[in-house]
Amino acid sequence: MTNHLIYINGKWVGEGLEKMDVINPANHEKIASVPKGGTAEAEHAADAAYEAFQTWSKKTAGERSELLLNWHRLIDENKEAIGKIMTLEQGKPLKEAIGEVNYANGFNLWYAEEGKRIYGETIPASHPNKRILVQKQPVGVVAAITPWNFPAAMITRKVAPALAAGCTVVVKPAGQTPLTALKLAELAEEAGFPKGVINVVTGRSKEIGEAWLKDDRVRKLTFTGSTEVGKQLMQGAARTMKKVSLELGGHAPFIVMDDADVDKAIEGLIGSKFRNAGQTCICTNRVYVQESIASGFTVKLAEAVAKLKIGDGLDGATDIGPLIDQGAVEKVEQHVQDAIDKGARIEAGGKKADADAGFYFEPTVLSGVTEEMMCMTEETFGPLAPIAAFQTEEEAIARANDTPYGLAAYVFTENIGRAIRISEQLEYGIVGLNDGLPSVPQAPFGGFKESGLGREGGHHGIEEFLEIKYISLAF
Ligand code: ADP
Repeated sequence: MTNHLIYINGKWVGEGLEKMDVINPANHEKIASVPKGGTAEAEHAADAAYEAFQTWSKKTAGERSELLLNWHRLIDENKEAIGKIMTLEQGKPLKEAIGEVNYANGFNLWYAEEGKRIYGETIPASHPNKRILVQKQPVGVVAAITPWNFPAAMITRKVAPALAAGCTVVVKPAGQTPLTALKLAELAEEAGFPKGVINVVTGRSKEIGEAWLKDDRVRKLTFTGSTEVGKQLMQGAARTMKKVSLELGGHAPFIVMDDADVDKAIEGLIGSKFRNAGQTCICTNRVYVQESIASGFTVKLAEAVAKLKIGDGLDGATDIGPLIDQGAVEKVEQHVQDAIDKGARIEAGGKKADADAGFYFEPTVLSGVTEEMMCMTEETFGPLAPIAAFQTEEEAIARANDTPYGLAAYVFTENIGRAIRISEQLEYGIVGLNDGLPSVPQAPFGGFKESGLGREGGHHGIEEFLEIKYISLAF
């Protein structure tokens, strides 16, 4: 039985608070309710994290690693149960949910090791009786605000490096998916993390965010979500000059050159576009196919997409689950309608499912798409693949870069020179070169331009939770 309460200072609290419901997007049914925490709970959590930081930060890397490994083992033992909670509150197919738990847990394992390698430096001094020492120290209390599309991974990708570095954390999961977060907290408690090291507050986003932003003991904000909210939080964080990491929106182009292996490109596109029903920040938004192969590619893609089965994520045959809510369905519908009104053609899908079912939208392929259409500039966050044809390599690069976003881009070509040339010119933090699924714990994930600041994952990801201290020693 999972706790459906707020977790602060090693205690489950908030029983008497007003509640908010968690809804299953596959059938609109209420699954559970969690407390609507606000300023008081956020402050209480920051107090606990600040106190815990005084001892957690002084533990050895080995001691911290041991607890991360315990957490890793417990999550691994409970991956089916966590996956099921995730499917119920978020909608993604169970096999994808369990896949996410494995991916999420990969950060715990990786940072349990990487925490042992927070090396300093010595630098040659300018005087024989001086020494220059450089140490890295944990930044302090970390506030992590996470979205609903990856209810487990967006937490561990932040929390694991923070804890490994010696920081303590206060987490606010998305209102749509608090249950996965609370389950992870329950397992962290079982793993033996001291009280106050990890705290999870569900409830009113703005109030909780504001309490942490203005608190000068919170030294780091790490956020994944929309660019709009990311900008507001960055402004708020400026008041106390917190370190910030922001993983924001994307508008990923998927470029298919005329020499691409078409089957590989279609497989990559389906993975990138339709995983999580198109609700990932690195998922393909725009498909650019070189004109000479565009019609053949479109027919093949439409055939493959028509075979994808939509349904309840708990049904083992389901490839695509529901979207998160009604607003998400309406956005896809609006993008499809706008494209059709401006001359695009439906090659597969194109409609939402019957109203009584959950928030379903058919996996959709559009052809004849042009840059004036909404789906080419706004994030659809749904199962829509709009295909536009292009003539030259230069044109593809220019169109791909013509956006304020810069998170992920994909390129499919069998020509190695072209592959490198295009990858290097794309203004994106992540390039999938003949690869539709680039996310792994050991690689730096993050965006250029308005897609964010900082990197998560890899040895780069732990730096975000460290301060550099220069000790100048004279003798
Ligand atoms: P999405 O479109 O994925 O829901 P949001 O940026 O709206 O993206 O939300 C991401 C996370 O930020 C969620 O946990 C949400 O509750 C939280 N959030 C949204 N608005 C604010 C805010 N003004 N202050 C703090 N957190 C917020």
